[in-house]
Amino acid sequence: MPTLATPARKRIALVAHDHQKADLLAWAHYNRDALAEHHIVATGTTGRLLAETLDLDVERLRSGPLGGDQQLGARIAEGEVDVLVFFWDPLEPVPHDPDVKALLRIAVVWNVPVACNRASADFVFSSPLMSGPYERELPDYEAYANRAVDAGGD
Ligand code: PGA
Repeated sequence: MPTLATPARKRIALVAHDHQKADLLAWAHYNRDALAEHHIVATGTTGRLLAETLDLDVERLRSGPLGGDQQLGARIAEGEVDVLVFFWDPLEPVPHDPDVKALLRIAVVWNVPVACNRASADFVFSSPLMSGPYERELPDYEAYANRAVDAGGD
């Protein structure tokens, strides 16, 4: 099983849908000092709010509906995201629902820890693994590709 060495300074992706932004900001405010130890990347509006209200260094991507979720998905596939905190809206539909599903799916494919609400984010952030190195197991894509060939797929 291939693994990826995750450094102590993690690359943490933060995303919140509009109705969850206040929740994410409150959580991030409480965890500001811990977040400052890591590299933060966020979708456009989430990132702007985090930078403005918490004075954090935040790498900002496109807004979610304009491709930000897909940019994060690509980073996950490249091994460039160590933790995903994604407060998606469980009560209202969003226009980019396929992108939301794709982001959650690709995070599971690459065995990235995902927190989708405050309690799970608290559990992830209180883990000793957040402040140390970690060998993350990756999918065995070679075996997977061979399996697809054996089955006549591409
Ligand atoms: P936003 O995108 O941070 O630009 O609002 C989040 C999303 O809707 O996925």
